[in-house]
Amino acid sequence: MTVPTRKLATTLRQPAELVAHGLAPAAALSDLEKVAARYAVAVTPAVAALIDRDDPDDPIARQYIPSIDELSTLPEENADPIGDHVHAPVEGIVHRYPDRVLFKLVHVCAVYCRFCFRREMVGPGKDNALSGEAYAAALDYIRTHPDIWEVILTGGDPLMLSPRRLAEITADLGAIDHVRIIRVHTRVPVADPVRVSAEMVAALKTPGATTWVALHANHPRELTAAARAACALIIDAGIPMVSQSVLLTGVNDDAGTLEQLMRMFVECRIKPYYLHHGDLAPGTAHLRTTVAQGQALMRALRGNVSGLCQPDYVLDIPGGFGKAPVGPEYLTRNPAADREASAELGYRVVDYCGDVHAYPPKP
Ligand code: SF4
Repeated sequence: MTVPTRKLATTLRQPAELVAHGLAPAAALSDLEKVAARYAVAVTPAVAALIDRDDPDDPIARQYIPSIDELSTLPEENADPIGDHVHAPVEGIVHRYPDRVLFKLVHVCAVYCRFCFRREMVGPGKDNALSGEAYAAALDYIRTHPDIWEVILTGGDPLMLSPRRLAEITADLGAIDHVRIIRVHTRVPVADPVRVSAEMVAALKTPGATTWVALHANHPRELTAAARAACALIIDAGIPMVSQSVLLTGVNDDAGTLEQLMRMFVECRIKPYYLHHGDLAPGTAHLRTTVAQGQALMRALRGNVSGLCQPDYVLDIPGGFGKAPVGPEYLTRNPAADREASAELGYRVVDYCGDVHAYPPKP
């Protein structure tokens, strides 16, 4: 079969298009159609160009090309795995922690990730952008809750909005005195870097608050020259960036790939922030690692890589109880202290090679 490798002009949304462009085997078409009937599919030209069509285990394809495994849902998997709904006082707002809210403006993304924790909420046919009334009510909620210091724009992907609309939103938020930080979570610089224009970057900024951008990327190959240029445009405008990645089987569940990813973030002036343990989203078990694997990878990262490159390994507690750091423990009480119920015997601390040392108690 001749595989077209020239740059695509449009985003692929239909399984037949994925097959026609060599991104999935023809034999998989009927499986892909079953998955696509349940979960949204979108592969942008930038992502399609990154996929190695000769590699059946390509880590980029694994993130975006549907798999029949997505139709196997485990009992512990949940349509709302991190409990957004239980903390939604008004449409569009998730208020889980005292000083910050999520503000979900749109339900569409440039690409649809096969492991998405909001996969039951995003995509065509789900809710669209907030209505004018719902937007006003959400803004009112933020305005009347003075503890809200940070507003996290998420979705869907907020960079799917037009620069004009985004500028209105950041201006509305910046006009609220107690909102000091606007954080924008996005995959667009990786998935569709041409969307990141000077106008878009200007729209992210507002005089009344400081904007941060959190980039979602999971594999070093996603940080292409175009993605790096899009991030540079954001950072050069004075907007700091952090990263978030999801630990995924067959994508980044090896120390070398994670190390390269974290180093690349730092080289791009993006501070590694979160490495998420895969959420219990329906049909994603084939992409989740164990927590023990994640901890071992974090240990390897700690040993080999600069402190600048260390993300927090976190797990969202099912049911909406928030994030917990679940990285390996380096400090434990001296076992003798437990036996004798005394903190005076101090601690055991593990160094980056795995060797254990005593740490003295405070005299
Ligand atoms: S870009 Fe984010 S919200 Fe959209 S499908 Fe991917 S993980 Fe989900």
